Formats: sequence, structure tokens, C-alpha cells
Amino acid sequence: MKFNTRTIHGGQKPDPAYGSVMPPIYQTSTFAQSTPGGHKGFEYSRSANPTRTALENCLASLENGSYGLAFASGLAAIDAVLKLLEPGDEVVSTSDLYGGSYRLFTKIYENFGIKFHFINMNNVEDIEAYITHDTKLIWVETPTNPMMNIIDIVAVAKIAKKHEVMLAVDNTFATPYLQQPLDLGADIVMHSVTKYLGGHSDLIMGALVVNDKDLADRLYFIQNAIGAVCGPQDAFLALRGIKTLHLRMQRHCENGKAVAEYLRNHPKIENVNWPGFKDHANHEIAKKQMKGFGGMVSFTTKGNNYDEAIKIIENLKVFTLAESLGGVESLAGHPASMTHASIPKEEREQAGVVDSLIRLSVGIEDEADLINDLKQAIG
Ligand SMILES: *Cc1c(COP(=O)(O)O)cnc(C)c1O
Repeated sequence: MKFNTRTIHGGQKPDPAYGSVMPPIYQTSTFAQSTPGGHKGFEYSRSANPTRTALENCLASLENGSYGLAFASGLAAIDAVLKLLEPGDEVVSTSDLYGGSYRLFTKIYENFGIKFHFINMNNVEDIEAYITHDTKLIWVETPTNPMMNIIDIVAVAKIAKKHEVMLAVDNTFATPYLQQPLDLGADIVMHSVTKYLGGHSDLIMGALVVNDKDLADRLYFIQNAIGAVCGPQDAFLALRGIKTLHLRMQRHCENGKAVAEYLRNHPKIENVNWPGFKDHANHEIAKKQMKGFGGMVSFTTKGNNYDEAIKIIENLKVFTLAESLGGVESLAGHPASMTHASIPKEEREQAGVVDSLIRLSVGIEDEADLINDLKQAIG
């Protein structure tokens, strides 16, 4: 089946009990057994729940993977990957990374003896300088948040394979509609389902998808042992959201392009970061590994004027000032004080997250309303 059909049917069959077309919400903690161990495949909802299983199969299908695992949040999914590691292990990660991932790595896992290297992966060869015999994982986010750098997944995967290091890709920004990292050589795909997959800003959820059976078994063991799973109600909402993923992403891409082009021609705007521009440093890689350029755009004001940036954010009316991204509604954020506040200023600015940087998650409203909103807010 093609991707646009799998968003609707992937991993789901009409329910065997009454033929309900949507997977029912199995709001139950436990399942009756006829004799000890005599159950119909489900015994306790931390271990597995039919609504969650339908979602996990759907996610696996969308990422062209064999096994999906759903978690209570994106960070819980990342946490499960890190629990594959042991004290003394090392991780090489992209530098302009989601702030929460950075916090989890440095404030939690460094205390458990895991060492992280945060590097700019624009030159993929640079990764090799950081690989030692203790390196177990390469963590890649692409497009990066919030600078919209693009990392060549195929090239990183080659290095990972050569050194027998696991490669995980945070595919939250691109979604499987635009990019399928397992096909490009990654071992693990991670999602904050909270964002585009859910798509309606109504849930917090994370996911992992893998192809390797052993790896899936280890992650399943961790998922069940730790218990940071999502509930059946949220699994249902995610399944419902995913049914329009392909339609939403099309419109996110169209509106993202319109907004990026408008901002780029505005005299009060300095830089606009959007991988669809031909002169974007990694445009060719984006074209090669993504089906479109997405709805995430970030920009700075002329002369990196902080006050000007804050004024724009406060003036926006259709765009809502809020954390998060990927919903049907347009959101604006100020990474330096919001999503990336947990990253030290010096490190943040090195990655380009200066004080006037504004990040837009361009929604699926009418394009003219979004452009007019920016026009009146920037003045
Ligand atoms: C939001 C986000 C996360 C964390 O996901 P939660 O669902 O908020 O825990 C991780 N990576 C990226 C790129 C994100 O945008």
C-alpha cells in the first residue's frame, strides 16, 4: 500500500468483536484470563493494550519499519533509547538539538556516566573524530531545531555502520511523510507524536520504530520494565490524527514556503532559515532525502534586534505564542527564552540561537491570513 493509504489503514483492521471501523479505546488496565496465562494476547496494559498496539503497528507501517513502540512522551521515547546504554558509553549528537533532549542527555544521563559530544554535523566527516571504541550511539535530529540545518542521513549511516555504532534519528520535524530514516540506513526512528503525527495539539506522546528484531525486543523490554507508556485514549487520538497526516503535511509545506518567501523579502528581517531555499547550505541534501521542506521556519530581525523580535511575537494574532509545533494551528516561539532556555547562552548562540530568533510552526490555515498576520506584526 502507498503511504497515503497507510496513514488511514496502516496496522488497523476492523475490530473483530463488532467490526468497529476505528480501533476501540480499550480503557482497561487488565484483561480476564480463563486459566493462568490463558488470555487473548493481552494481559496488562503496561505490557500491551490493543489500542496502543494498533497505533504502534500504524507507526511501524508509516516509517517502513517492522516494530513500533509508543511512549508517554517524546522524551520518554528518547529515554528508552538511552537505557540501551551503559556507564562509560559515549554518544555523538547534533549540536542544535531540541532543548529537552539536550537537558535529558546532560542533566540526567551524564550523571549516570554516559558521555555526550555535541557537534555540528554539516560536515559529516567531522563525526569520525569523536568516535571511540566506547561510542555506542549517534543521535541525529534533521531538520534541526530551530536552525533548520539538514544532516545527510545516508552519509551518517555509512559512518555508523563502518564503526558499528547505532544511529537514531529524531524524525519529529520531517514526519514519515517527508522523510523515512530507516530506508536511509538509520537503526532507530524517534518521534514526538505530540507534534505533526498527532497534529492537533491535543496530546503528549512519543514513539520509536525499528527494523531489527533484537533491538525491538530490547526496547520492548525497556518499555515494559520502565512503564512510560501512553494510555489508550491518547493512542486513539494519535490514530485519528495520523489519518490526515498526508493532507496536513501537504498544506504545511505550501504554507511554510509562502511564509518563508514572504519573510525573506521583508526589509526588517535578516536571515530566514528554511531548507527549501536554493541557497540554504544543505538544500541539495534536503532535496535528496525529503519529499518536501515542511512547515517549520525560523528567522532573525535586522541587526539581531531583541526588542523588535519580542514586539513581533507579541503583535501576532493568527499565530499563537506557545511552545510546541506541528499542530493544525500556526504557532510562534522564541527559542532563546522558551524551548532552548535550558541550553547555556554561549552554546546556544554558537548554534545560531540568538536572542532575536523567532521560530514559526506554520499551520494549515489560509495562506493569506498568515501572511497578513506577519505583515501587521512586523510593521
Ligand atoms: C517536542 C520534541 C521532542 C520531545 O517530545 P515531547 O513529546 O515533548 O516529550 C523531541 N524532539 C523534538 C524535535 C521535539 O520537537
